[in-house]
Amino acid sequence: MNDETPICSAKGCRTAAVWVLAWNNPKLHTPERRKTWLACDEHREHLTQFLGMRGFLKDVVALAEWERRVAAGEQ
Ligand SMILES: [Zn+2]
Repeated sequence: MNDETPICSAKGCRTAAVWVLAWNNPKLHTPERRKTWLACDEHREHLTQFLGMRGFLKDVVALAEWERRVAAGEQ
């Protein structure tokens, strides 16, 4: 098991993540703050709906694209 392999954030899921869900809770976080959840293909829709229903969801980005943005200083 590689500790550096990002794992899906869904409860009980041990699958490698391929998506990043960026979100913000306006009651807890400043507007520019981004919390992130990771998702595998199977759980992306479930986690997206969970955050979307609460109005927290800001962005859904492929993990590789997210890492490119972080490396570029865009996130
Ligand atoms: Zn999963």
